[in-house]
Amino acid sequence: MPELPEVETTKSGIAPYIQEKKILSVTVRHPRLRWPIPSDLAKQLVGNTILSVERRAKYLLCKTITGTLIIHLGMSGSLRILLKFQPPQKHDHVDIEFANKIILRYTDPRRFGAILWTTEDPKNHSLLKHLGPEPLSKDFSGKYLANCAQKKTTAIKSFIMDNKIVVGVGNIYATEALFAAKIHPLTPANTLSLEKFNQLTKFIKIILKKSIKQGGTTLKDFSQADGKPGYFVNNLLVYGRANLPCITCGTPLATKRIGQRSSVFCEVCQTGL
Ligand SMILES: [Zn+2]
Repeated sequence: MPELPEVETTKSGIAPYIQEKKILSVTVRHPRLRWPIPSDLAKQLVGNTILSVERRAKYLLCKTITGTLIIHLGMSGSLRILLKFQPPQKHDHVDIEFANKIILRYTDPRRFGAILWTTEDPKNHSLLKHLGPEPLSKDFSGKYLANCAQKKTTAIKSFIMDNKIVVGVGNIYATEALFAAKIHPLTPANTLSLEKFNQLTKFIKIILKKSIKQGGTTLKDFSQADGKPGYFVNNLLVYGRANLPCITCGTPLATKRIGQRSSVFCEVCQTGL
């Protein structure tokens, strides 16, 4: 599933090709994504120019003078730049063609993604308005988390994966950050000290930044047929390593379902329960 770093990588990958470019045509081959693609999308976009490409949580916001194209990659979506037309494959649902003949192609085998249009400030869109701060912003701090956690007995792992608290901390990043901060994932959020919250936010930021940086290394391939953003797999210390020895103490890593998500952790190194 594309996580925040992949979406950030996608943003930096596509922006130079489509920013300040006029839209020539829009082809929707399959409008049924998570929500139907607006039937008047072509009418809204053709002749319009993308002024900027921004990211909020895992939403890409392509701003024009009349409104904003909102794109979410869902479970399996991806965007790529075609420097010249290529025949669409089965899951290539949408093409947006620009005046420089470049095509932005949306591919999504499972069709849980979304392509929407809004004329209001996208921050006030129903999908975006309740979202917590960006994890790499100054607003996301130990103090902020500690404030939110008052009276919250939720497991810390579910707490930091809640989009209303902070966006973009998916299962991989929550798992890795809790290990780095030596916090047991089931610790009730309201029992952690400010110091622990400071550590946790610090590691969430470090791990996300590292992952974004790695995605950045594959940018040069963004306009290739297989131009998929880089995934942060080589640096994972706990995620996907259930029953393998902890890299710190050698104890086999434990696994448990927390809030419907599989969680791997070290019962020796991660404390707080
Ligand atoms: Zn350990």
